[in-house]
Amino acid sequence: MPDSTIIKSPLPGLYIVATPIGNLGDISPRAAAVLAEANVIAAEDTRVTAKLLSHLGLRISMTPYHDHSDERARAALVARMEQEIVVLVSDAGTPLISDPGYKLVRDARAAGRHVTTLPGPCAAIAAITLSGLPSDRFLFAGFLPSKVKARADTIAEFAALRATLVFYESGPRLAAALTALADGLGNREAAVAREITKLYEQCVTGPLRDLAARYADAPPKGEIVVIVGPPPEDSHEEGDDETIDAALRAALADQPVARAAKAVAKRFGRDRHNIYARALTLKDSV
Ligand code: SAM
Repeated sequence: MPDSTIIKSPLPGLYIVATPIGNLGDISPRAAAVLAEANVIAAEDTRVTAKLLSHLGLRISMTPYHDHSDERARAALVARMEQEIVVLVSDAGTPLISDPGYKLVRDARAAGRHVTTLPGPCAAIAAITLSGLPSDRFLFAGFLPSKVKARADTIAEFAALRATLVFYESGPRLAAALTALADGLGNREAAVAREITKLYEQCVTGPLRDLAARYADAPPKGEIVVIVGPPPEDSHEEGDDETIDAALRAALADQPVARAAKAVAKRFGRDRHNIYARALTLKDSV
């Protein structure tokens, strides 16, 4: 049975508080109550959090916090948690999710402090709910690397997973990321969710290559989450010998022969031994 109590006198400790990802109306009453009780708010960017506090009519002391803040700053916060209410927020959404906080939680736990969370907005979860793609199993992959090879290697790690994949992206990188995802995963169904909870919220769905073409000459503005559906059950991409050679050459550029052959055979539903033999022939021309 849900409990609607808003704590009147919270215990000292660390409170991880999710904040809106675009619409200030999404701050929960409990989050507002705990912020009002805080002795100090550890914020990713105190200027951003100041706007939220002003919306709530609060004046609370803040200190900047990043996981790369020095050990002394973190230790000082953990020390304060013994007697005081320390609230952790990031600029938007759920702290620790592609945002600072993990080391603070780790150290607070190690010191035996009271640690609790006030869940709320998270762009990844909101985008999954908008996408219409399977939501029973998903992997949150954060931001893809920006360098081409590192991005392809990361995507290759996800290729065999039977799960929906979730990525944070930016407008200028979007089309290249969608193309790299299609190259590495096949032309799966996907969604681009943009500006969630804001005035121009939009969710565009379609196969990865269609989405890549749509955004190639028109990088969208605003904040973006890309959702990629799982590989279709027991189905494979269609590909003639030329297409398979091209896929093998691309895979051989950054993977050993056996791994490249395995991935391409799986992607096109071909015999692994035949594809391996073909990969051996092609490898010297890559
Ligand atoms: N901790 C945050 C959360 O819980 O969603 C995410 C922080 S991460 C540094 C910021 C990224 O989240 C943005 O670059 C974008 O990819 C995504 N994002 C945040 N707000 C969004 C929104 N309103 N609509 C779409 N994506 C958003």
